[in-house]
Amino acid sequence: MEDTIFTKIIRREIPAHIVYEDEGTIAFLDAKPATPGHTLVVPKKQVRNIFDVDDETLAAVMRTVRKIAPAVRDAVGAHGAHINSNHEAAAGQIVFHLHFHIIPRHDRSEFSFWPQSDYPPGDAAAIALKIRQALG
Ligand code: AMP
Repeated sequence: MEDTIFTKIIRREIPAHIVYEDEGTIAFLDAKPATPGHTLVVPKKQVRNIFDVDDETLAAVMRTVRKIAPAVRDAVGAHGAHINSNHEAAAGQIVFHLHFHIIPRHDRSEFSFWPQSDYPPGDAAAIALKIRQALG
């Protein structure tokens, strides 16, 4: 896997507002925050996204997300947070190094993240069946 901008942050080759670091993960402020305090949690190991990450690396990242989410929330006086992650370009991934966004939320009316719809009759059952089949 090629280096990304996050590799450069991990190596301190470019500046970032780092808020936490341990052996396997690092967290820093997103340069273009959805809301103030928007923080990214990144494994130091170079993995592209959920489709190639191993359990241990993902567990380390989620441990860090759980550890720092309350600190991010409290630092900006928020009442909640999105824990969001984009996987592949089709889903909006721009930096192809796994990361989780912690986006503090003060109020539900600030913005809405994704639209919702209703399934046509029968579609939900058919899709659920295909997912179970894909799982083997
Ligand atoms: P994604 O669309 O999930 O791949 O999001 C990548 C995120 O990385 C975006 O929210 C960017 O604002 C953020 N980002 C890109 N470059 C940097 C950087 N040098 N420092 C901090 N955040 C960055």
